[in-house]
Amino acid sequence: YSRDKQRLVDDYNKSYGGQKSDFDVNVDLNNKVSMWQGDITTLEIDAIVNAANKALLGGGGVDGAIHRAAGPHLKEECATLHGCETGDAKITGGYKLPAKYVIHTVGPVGEKAGLLESCYKTSLDILSKENLRSVAFPCISTGVYGYPQEKAAHVALKTVRKFLESNSSAVDRVIFCLFMPEDVKIYENLLQMYFPH
Ligand code: ADP
Repeated sequence: YSRDKQRLVDDYNKSYGGQKSDFDVNVDLNNKVSMWQGDITTLEIDAIVNAANKALLGGGGVDGAIHRAAGPHLKEECATLHGCETGDAKITGGYKLPAKYVIHTVGPVGEKAGLLESCYKTSLDILSKENLRSVAFPCISTGVYGYPQEKAAHVALKTVRKFLESNSSAVDRVIFCLFMPEDVKIYENLLQMYFPH
């Protein structure tokens, strides 16, 4: 375990240009992140992230669930946004959802780390720009879009960690909303590496 952890910390620091991060001492940051298994549409939180498609007009998986729970006005607002590029994100109201806002992001089809990273980063940038404090992410691209789950989890955790390190007061809570049992196992394992207590 500790060798895996050391390799992960080394990779992380290398990929972020030598700026050294001490994973263990940053308890304040580590306390902001958690995982939860269930339906993202039930979360009463500032914003939930939708793994949408480029048209932003609804689809299957988590996208379909969000549109069903939010009601038809969500689609009406989405239709005014003229779609969204892969790796980008756009915000709308939450309508009938308990969440105040929905941040729609379009994940890559297949394993494209830069674009998946951009989904998480752009969503967090929008969150902080709108002065929102809490957000829940689904496992973007790992359903129909076919990104391998564990590889996607590394990208998700690394990108959230990097964001929180450089925007320490911007956000209070980031929840990884997991749906598949395999993701629960993966995140249980990786969360304690990226965000140790
Ligand atoms: P993508 O097209 O980006 O792969 P999917 O919706 O197919 O998006 O899958 C993304 C993830 O969302 C998968 O882990 C899937 O199991 C999960 N998911 C599906 N429905 C929900 C839901 N209601 N709440 C949270 N996660 C969900």
